[in-house]
Amino acid sequence: MQPTPSPLVVAVYDTKPYDRDSLLPAARGNPIEWRFLDFRLGPESASAARGAQAVCVFVNDRVDRPSLELLAAEGIRLVTLRCAGFNNVDLDAARALGIRVTRVPGYSPYAVAEHAVALLLTLNRKIHRSFNRVRELNFSLSGLEGSDLHGKTAGIVGTGRIGRIAAQILRGFGMRVLAYDPHPDPAWAEQTGVELGPLELLLAESDVLSLHVPLTPETHHLIRAETLARMKRGAFLINVSRGALVDTGALVDSLKECHLGGVGLDVYEEEEGIFFEDLSGTILQDDELARLLTFPNVLITAHQAFLTREALSDIARTTVTNLAAHAAGEAYLPGSQLA
Ligand code: NAD
Repeated sequence: MQPTPSPLVVAVYDTKPYDRDSLLPAARGNPIEWRFLDFRLGPESASAARGAQAVCVFVNDRVDRPSLELLAAEGIRLVTLRCAGFNNVDLDAARALGIRVTRVPGYSPYAVAEHAVALLLTLNRKIHRSFNRVRELNFSLSGLEGSDLHGKTAGIVGTGRIGRIAAQILRGFGMRVLAYDPHPDPAWAEQTGVELGPLELLLAESDVLSLHVPLTPETHHLIRAETLARMKRGAFLINVSRGALVDTGALVDSLKECHLGGVGLDVYEEEEGIFFEDLSGTILQDDELARLLTFPNVLITAHQAFLTREALSDIARTTVTNLAAHAAGEAYLPGSQLA
């Protein structure tokens, strides 16, 4: 009889009910023992991984050098991200400490692109305002005028997995779609009827600008006072990628000057410790977020673009496959390994 392999113990930081509901069934048949933790990873909480061999983290866990040093001291050899973006991980520190890092390189891009479009449609047609009005038995239409997207120009910054789907959906609305990516794919653009051009062109001509780039030192504050000033008056800005792509102070100023027509955000520069939490009984300490929430033409969701059944099950499947590969000393799924 084969000896039963001892399970790989995985500490799952910042666990929410939907994480358990997707990870548990995905791991069936695999020798994985989950330790679900409902707090985020940081130097103060790294010791909670004691006894585990791997940790599983999400977008707002702090996988910086101090955390990694503490995890390494606890014997952690793998950090597996249950997301695509990895701006919260110090990969150099992980390499130096001999900790492998994996992510979920691609899960339903439709989930995120469709959420970007949901924000756009809601903002443009003021659905968030009419929903509230009608519940108050206010059936007046005053102030709810929107505009046709058909015939307008959309600018897609970043034509990776998600940006392409967003571009395709907006082409389906009959929009002219401009796209900028430092690594363009002219064949895809031609096939989809998308015009490639520099960021400058997108800023100058777009009625809707949607960001689909990773957060890196180059893309940090890609949208700031000077880029906002080059956008068309009345344009919509949609950001479902990472909060720090946008300088929040400059965004507030632009909104106060009535330069932008509307802003849809699924991510926020200072979202750590706020998004994913129920703070309804507390006093919001973040003054910029509080200011943003006062604008009638700003719509904020709390980093939920990934939250579809399909995306969650893709994420869980990739995470479990990489954990099983790690336990067996085999290769991770292509595109997963970061360190
Ligand atoms: P991807 O790697 O497939 O595509 C990113 C694209 O951005 C690439 O084509 C790259 O060349 C391009 N790019 C890089 N720097 C650029 C720049 N300065 N200007 C223009 N383009 C640039 O990534 P993806 O799967 O499409 O995801 C994009 C981002 O969306 C992720 O990095 C992540 O931060 C974010 N995201 C958010 C959620 C959410 O729930 N809100 C979920 C998944 C991903």
